Amino acid sequence: MPSIPRVKVNQKPPDGALASSLKDLLKQGFYMGKVPLFVLGAGISNKRVAFINQMAERLVALIRSSQNVPVPIKQTLIKQGEAIQSGSASRSDAAEFFSTCQSGVPEAAIPSVWSDFCEELAIAGLTTSNGRFAGLFRLEKRPSAAFDPEPLAGPSPAHVAISSLLTVQACHVLNLNYDPLLLHAMAYLRESCDPNQISDAFHIIPLHSAQDIRKYYSSPNVAYQPSVVNARGDVFFARCTNDRCPEYAIDRSLDSRYTASSDVDVFRCTSCDLRTIKLQLSFPGYETKERLVQPILHQLREFLGFRTSVIVPIGLSGKWDPYLLSELFEWAMAYRISIVDVKPDKATVDVPTSFEGFRRRYFPSISTEFQASGSSYKQWPATADEFMDWIYSTVSAMAVFTNLPDLTSISAKQTSLQLR
Ligand SMILES: [Zn+2]
Repeated sequence: MPSIPRVKVNQKPPDGALASSLKDLLKQGFYMGKVPLFVLGAGISNKRVAFINQMAERLVALIRSSQNVPVPIKQTLIKQGEAIQSGSASRSDAAEFFSTCQSGVPEAAIPSVWSDFCEELAIAGLTTSNGRFAGLFRLEKRPSAAFDPEPLAGPSPAHVAISSLLTVQACHVLNLNYDPLLLHAMAYLRESCDPNQISDAFHIIPLHSAQDIRKYYSSPNVAYQPSVVNARGDVFFARCTNDRCPEYAIDRSLDSRYTASSDVDVFRCTSCDLRTIKLQLSFPGYETKERLVQPILHQLREFLGFRTSVIVPIGLSGKWDPYLLSELFEWAMAYRISIVDVKPDKATVDVPTSFEGFRRRYFPSISTEFQASGSSYKQWPATADEFMDWIYSTVSAMAVFTNLPDLTSISAKQTSLQLR
C-alpha cells in the first residue's frame, strides 16, 4: 500500500477488549466479503474546515460590523448566531439563522454579508477565535499533520488512510462533509505512486442521490472504482444568479468547481461565463432537508446491508442529524451489526454524547456492550487520526486481507506499488 503519513499516537487503544473484538470482527468480515462502513462527520476535517459554530461566529462578526442591516434583524441574528456558537441553539433556530443570512431580505443588506462570508470561506479563509482556516478552494493535496502551522490546508492522515483503504475495497464511505479533502487525499495517492500502476481504483466517484447509488451498484462494469456517498445531498452547493442563464437558480454540486484552476473561476458560471455563482448553504436543521437522508440511506442499505461488517461513525457529533442517527441504529438492528463511534469526547453516564443520548431515548434495546454478532453501540474515545492509524495498521497486517478473493488482484498490485 502507498505509505501514509503516520500520526504520533500518544494513547493506546482505549479499551483493549474493544480493540481486539473489533479486530476479530474486521477479519471475519473480510472472509465473508464484508467491510466497515465509515460515516465521516466534521471531526475528521478538524482545524481544516470551519465547524457550524465557527461559521456562525464569523457571520455574527460581519453582521455586527455591517452598517446597513436594520437593527431588529441585526439583534435577532446576533442572538441566534451566539446561541449556535455556545451550542445552545435549537436545530430550527440554527437553520433559520443560516437561511436568513443567505437568502432572504434584500433590503436588509444581508446579501452583502453573505457574499463577503462566501468569498472568505471559499478563497481568503475564515478567521475565528479558535484559529484560522484555509479557503475551501485553496485546500491542498499534500497532507498536513496536527503539529503543522495553521492554517492546516491538506487532508488529515485519517483522510489519506481512508483513501488508501478505498483503493483496495477495504471500506465503504458515507460522507457528511462538504470539503474536498477525501478527493484531495486520493489525488495525493495518485501523485505519490508510479503512474503506470494507477488504475480506476485511485479515482473516487461521489454519489449524491439514491439514483446515483442505484446506478453505481448496478453497473455491469466489473472493474472496481471506489465511490463515496454524500448523505445529505450537498451542504454547500453552487447556484448561478444570472436570470438570463440556463443554469439560473439550479443547484449544482461543488465537486466540479474544486477543479477550478484560478480563484476567479471559482465564482464563474460555466454556462453564462459571468462571475455570477453564489454559494448556498443548505443547513440540515430543516426537517424536509433532514429527511433527504432517508432515501439515500435506504438505497445504500439495500446494496450494502449484507456487505457491511461494522458501522464506524468518525468525528460525527450527531447533534444536527437525528434522522441520520435513526437510520444508522435501524441499520444496526436490522442486520445485527455493531456501531463503533469514534470521537474524542469524554462522556459520562450523566452527560452522554448526543449519539448515546439518542440511543438511550429511542433505541434502548441496543446493547452498549460490544457484540460480535448482534447490534450494539460503543464509543471509541479517540481522534479520527488516532483511530485510523490503529485500523490502518491492523488491516494492513492481516494476511487474510491480501488473500481475499475480491481483493487479491488489487491488493497484490498495491503491495508492489513503490513511492516515487
Ligand atoms: Zn450562469
